[in-house]
Amino acid sequence: MTAKRPRLLVLGTGGTIAGSASSATDGSYAAGELALEDMLKGLAGLGLEAELIAKPIAQIGSQDMGWPVWDALHREIVAAQNDATIEGILITHGTDTAEETAYLFDLTLAAGKPLVLVGAMRPAGAVGADGMRNFANAVRVASDTDASGRGPLLVMGDTVFAAKDVRKAATSNIDAFKGYPRGPIARVTPSSLDWFGGATRVGEPARYAWPKALPRVAILTAGAGMDAKPVEALLGIGCSGIVLAGMGQGNAPGCVLDALGAAVKDGAPVVRSSRVDEGLVDRNVEVDDDAYGFIAARAQGPAKARILLMVLIANGITDAASIQAAFDRG
Ligand code: GLU
Repeated sequence: MTAKRPRLLVLGTGGTIAGSASSATDGSYAAGELALEDMLKGLAGLGLEAELIAKPIAQIGSQDMGWPVWDALHREIVAAQNDATIEGILITHGTDTAEETAYLFDLTLAAGKPLVLVGAMRPAGAVGADGMRNFANAVRVASDTDASGRGPLLVMGDTVFAAKDVRKAATSNIDAFKGYPRGPIARVTPSSLDWFGGATRVGEPARYAWPKALPRVAILTAGAGMDAKPVEALLGIGCSGIVLAGMGQGNAPGCVLDALGAAVKDGAPVVRSSRVDEGLVDRNVEVDDDAYGFIAARAQGPAKARILLMVLIANGITDAASIQAAFDRG
């Protein structure tokens, strides 16, 4: 008797994994050109042990990812989580913002069925294209019951990352993703999957409610010699919160910190993260967070710190102590 093939929902959003190169060696191409159904037809010959149900949601480069597509994806994922005939969910996604989408859903969905984001660094037709391989690996992960209870996962190459840890760390390498503070949580090939530890979030409900909209939160990158005008400009356009991508452990010139402190007093939470690729930003190291009313981003870089701050503000969580507790949890 042959085992039943898992039924997986594939939500397509575009990105390089849906891109096709006009030349195998010329680097230019447009992301999000291949229709999801055509992409899945291309997979038919791979002998994947899964039934794939295609549902195109968008056809964009993920630099254009935002509320309308997130809202549509969230609706589809919740419906699939409640559909007993679906065993796992895949999202094809551009790599530029995959970590933001993964983290947004990490914060706002129950840690239920496997939810796997997958992208590619090279479009179909380019020499060394990685889309098919990555997709086959992602199918392997989404078919595994042990992938549930871990929050959204990102599969790139033969590596599986958890949403909380993952970030894009290279612009063009095939091996473009890193995890911090945890590295990969599993290794995968189309025929094997090795988890490095057990699932810790089985049965965990959504941490935060899915909002009706997300507030405007900006990332301000600090640079030597800057003045406080950019802070004033951000407040002038109605930012509900600011994430500082600071130097080192979230530093900025004194005049900028003072302006950000004034923003806090005016009701806009300020999270200090770092423009440095990796490492913690802890409270009160060089900056007096207690006096300014700032929040330290801990392990989250600016892009995902912005996602968390948006979700918190949208859920009415705006006091510094509660926001800090959320960042401490990660
Ligand atoms: N910028 C595009 C995107 O993020 C293409 C990059 C990619 O998918 O690797 O969708």
